[in-house]
Amino acid sequence: MELDREKVAAWINEKWEGPIFCPVCQHNDWNIPDRVWEAREFVGGDLVIGGGQRVLPLVSIMCNFCGHTLMFNALAMGVVEPAKKKEEG
Ligand SMILES: [Zn+2]
Repeated sequence: MELDREKVAAWINEKWEGPIFCPVCQHNDWNIPDRVWEAREFVGGDLVIGGGQRVLPLVSIMCNFCGHTLMFNALAMGVVEPAKKKEEG
């Protein structure tokens, strides 16, 4: 899913207190991707076909110097809409 990078940057600037330095290398050079990622619920290593697994949408912010990556919940950031439940019947 495509991502509004300007909206993400505005959210980060609003929420991040203090200098925006990487906690690993201390550089201030971040990459905001143009995609939303997802993490799936772990179900004992099985691949579940046809749904039933919960999915967490994530926005990754990566340090361009060392690759350290921060993950934010895309729903909490307001950059994606919650999944609509399928109609029964
Ligand atoms: Zn870094």
